[in-house]
Amino acid sequence: MNIAGITDILENLETGAITWEQALRQVTSLPKVWQTAEWKARRQALIQDNCAVCATTKGPFVLQHLTPTLSFKEMCQVVKYELRQQLLPQVNAALPDAEVAAHIGAGESRKACPHCGALSIRHRLTIAPHYVCGKYGPGGAGFDEPTAVAYYIKQRTTDRAYAMKLAREFLASVATIARLREYDQQIQHEATLRSLRQSLAYRSLTHTATYCKGCAFKADWPYMLRQAQ
Ligand SMILES: [Zn+2]
Ligand SMILES: [Zn+2]
Repeated sequence: MNIAGITDILENLETGAITWEQALRQVTSLPKVWQTAEWKARRQALIQDNCAVCATTKGPFVLQHLTPTLSFKEMCQVVKYELRQQLLPQVNAALPDAEVAAHIGAGESRKACPHCGALSIRHRLTIAPHYVCGKYGPGGAGFDEPTAVAYYIKQRTTDRAYAMKLAREFLASVATIARLREYDQQIQHEATLRSLRQSLAYRSLTHTATYCKGCAFKADWPYMLRQAQ
């Protein structure tokens, strides 16, 4: 089952004797798990004569893996996501308010309702008062002079605190993505370690149960759908 081989590779990677690229190359050069006689024998010893889900005794049966297997790419995404969650608060804390304020700028001057600050106001030439607030409807509060407010275009709001909040989230996210690029090697190293551990768990056939073909198909279906996307 190559368990000894993979254990060796994992140990060499953990101690830094080999790189993650070398580890991946060594693993892929091992024979496929189902080609080994040891695996076939172990599978035969574990498989039952009834389905663990629907209890049917009509075969054929398969040994179903109960823990989902992630591809190397998916494993990299998981590690990257975890690292992002760690880095984001640090990046956010190091981001000065002045930089966020510079990003939103002074805003554009827009005409607004002096009562509620709404930008949706209607101008009427012949009837006084000459402006009507769009929020209040046709019979609502009128006014002769609109007030000037700052409108933050990118954040689409006149609320400065809200514009600052959105801009901070945006800038922190961009800066975190830039920081993540520096960790590319570490991410792939960690993903390789986890893939090797996953591979050992998979090959040892410990988290398995006997399923009939129908129940195995139903269990695999959501996974296959996800893979097809
Ligand atoms: Zn079944
Ligand atoms: Zn208004």
